Amino acid sequence: MAASSNWADVYQCPFCGGDLPSPGRGFVDHIDQNPDCDEEFEAWRDTITDDVPHGWPG
Ligand SMILES: [Zn+2]
Repeated sequence: MAASSNWADVYQCPFCGGDLPSPGRGFVDHIDQNPDCDEEFEAWRDTITDDVPHGWPG
């Protein structure tokens, strides 16, 4: 298993490594059911806010 910073095409949670049914909605559902991942996602999103004027795509 190679580590990758480009997880847009990886059907895995980048925080806990759990399998996702899909990279978009599946991830949203995943963090909705995993508060720990949600917190990490919020923290991660804060770091890219400057690069994404309209928020999370999709
Ligand atoms: Zn997760």
